[in-house]
Amino acid sequence: MIDASYADFYRRSVDSPEAFWAEQAQAIDWKKPWNSVLDRSRPPFSAWFSGGLTNLCHNAVDRHLPERAGQAALVYVSTETGQEVSYSYAELHREVQIMAASLQSLGVTQGDRVLIYMPMIPEAVFAMLACVRLGAVHSVVFGGFASVSLAARIDDAQPKVIVSADAGSRAGKVVSYKPLLDEALRLSQHPPEQVIVVDRGLADWARQQPRDVSYADLRTRHARAEVPCVWVDSTHPSYILYTSGTTGKPKGVQRDTGGYAVALQLSMRVIFGGQPGETFFCTSDIGWVVGHSYIVYAPLLSGMTTILYEGTPIRPDAAVFWRIVEQYRVNQMFSAPTAMRVLKRHDPALLQRHDLSSLRAIFLAGEPLDEPTGRWAAESLNKPVIDNYWQTETGWPILATPLGFPDVASRMGSPGVSMPGYKVCLRNETDGEPVAPGEKGVVAIDWPLPPGCLQTIWGDDARFVDTYWSTYPNRQVYSTFDWGRQDADGYLYILGRTDDVINVAGHRLGTREIEESISAHPAVAEVAVVGVQDALKGQAAWAFVVLRPGQDNVTAQASQASIAAHVDAQLGAVARPQRICLVTALPKTRSGKMLRRAIQAICEGRDPGDLTTLEDPLALQQIPDAIARP
Ligand code: ATP
Ligand code: MG
Repeated sequence: MIDASYADFYRRSVDSPEAFWAEQAQAIDWKKPWNSVLDRSRPPFSAWFSGGLTNLCHNAVDRHLPERAGQAALVYVSTETGQEVSYSYAELHREVQIMAASLQSLGVTQGDRVLIYMPMIPEAVFAMLACVRLGAVHSVVFGGFASVSLAARIDDAQPKVIVSADAGSRAGKVVSYKPLLDEALRLSQHPPEQVIVVDRGLADWARQQPRDVSYADLRTRHARAEVPCVWVDSTHPSYILYTSGTTGKPKGVQRDTGGYAVALQLSMRVIFGGQPGETFFCTSDIGWVVGHSYIVYAPLLSGMTTILYEGTPIRPDAAVFWRIVEQYRVNQMFSAPTAMRVLKRHDPALLQRHDLSSLRAIFLAGEPLDEPTGRWAAESLNKPVIDNYWQTETGWPILATPLGFPDVASRMGSPGVSMPGYKVCLRNETDGEPVAPGEKGVVAIDWPLPPGCLQTIWGDDARFVDTYWSTYPNRQVYSTFDWGRQDADGYLYILGRTDDVINVAGHRLGTREIEESISAHPAVAEVAVVGVQDALKGQAAWAFVVLRPGQDNVTAQASQASIAAHVDAQLGAVARPQRICLVTALPKTRSGKMLRRAIQAICEGRDPGDLTTLEDPLALQQIPDAIARP
């Protein structure tokens, strides 16, 4: 374990970043040492370990073979198809080489992009690892996206090859991928010449010769292939990944190689308390950053077993996560508040059915963890629930309670303290000056960002500088576009996104605060609050509420009145939403984030904008109906 106080560890990471990160970099293999730990010559850009040669796949797979060839590396659990398959490190090594040889046979070499449009199946992980093995840049596009979003991402990356599958499956229903892909290729300006199709036997698909190649054929042809790792510069891009699109057009985050590997191995030890040989279960999707970092790379870089789960949290029943924890002796679990809120709506007895003794903690990220949900999870599972805050851009947590340092305790309502290397500072929105202690400010990070964070936006350095670094003078402060407050002990509280603040008759209210209050009402399962233009008050808060089951005997009016009274009592009448509309579902992005901007646009009679990341169109369609009801 680490024997220092976290405060000392952290201080060293920001006071002497070169020395600190050079030490951390010893934890991965380098073919050739770096020339400089941190290249500061071109702010706001920064380059970590440039001149050093390494390879992500070597560090995630090959490096472990002498000690862990027989240990499970990847366990695939699908409640959609009923498959459960375990791959040892040796088997993973074999599969990755077959995939790498297949890609090579289609002309993929270092620097080429490969787009991966796949359901949650092992071949998706093989494909990611095969790309970085060859120095090719992967762009994983979430399997639920339809043709238009996919076509935009094809054109952005201009891939040499696309790896896809016949179909995915969601809640027992087959979702064909191939027709969506065919349509996207038709729409695209830069379609690749070759497509690899993993045929799961779920859906018929039309093979387009000579473009489409079946992976089964490639696999037979390259069954014994040996493909060495291509050593690349630490700053060589490993992947492109798009942000969730909660606030607008998704941004193509570009990640490096060496800095990412170093940061992830540190995060696994320090934040998650993960050790080689342990089992990590992250319930995200590989299409999101949480999946990239904590299903694939961090557990494997750390010699752990990782679980790849295809299915929903509630099938065959709402105990499926806990069944997996028991069966595979999971040590750390990483999920999202939205999944916990779903489970909260089911029978609490399901949480007691399985032996969870292996589980040390549950980590939640991606959106604010409201206190009622956090408390519910901690109490009903009797485990520490650790909120952590970060972004696609950063690749690993900015704020957390580091499990590797028992001297830092978690605090309900706060995602924790600054993680190593992040110089977090709350700044005034207008002049960028640091705010007074305890005051609300924009969560900002002083340049340089630590290893693992985005290098730039793919193909668009100007958008990188303009988007993140131009809010404050000097272009040396990164804005997260989230509001926060810090207490005297350094714990930060996230108060919402900077564009979620509304102005009601001169009062600046965080929609997050109103949501927190409403979600603490016993009848409420979920809520979204948006600011809607109002001739009289400037803006008015409107709340969209999903009630918990068992409210059938209560009239809508009674529920609305009781929620309004609850907000009055908690926050004061100024915060009481002008309208409280009852719905059965709320529109979210596919990564589980509330699409407030789309709700707001509909309330204001505007076009809801880019909806390519919308999960359930029916949820959004409820909004106009709910507004129309008196
Ligand atoms: P886009 O940038 O395209 O609008 P997005 O910001 O939702 O989409 P992500 O990178 O997936 O894309 O999400 C990061 C954001 O999620 C953070 O900036 C923050 O607003 C929110 N978030 C993540 N984790 C937490 C957390 N633990 N508490 C509160 N908010 C969180
Ligand atoms: Mg964002």
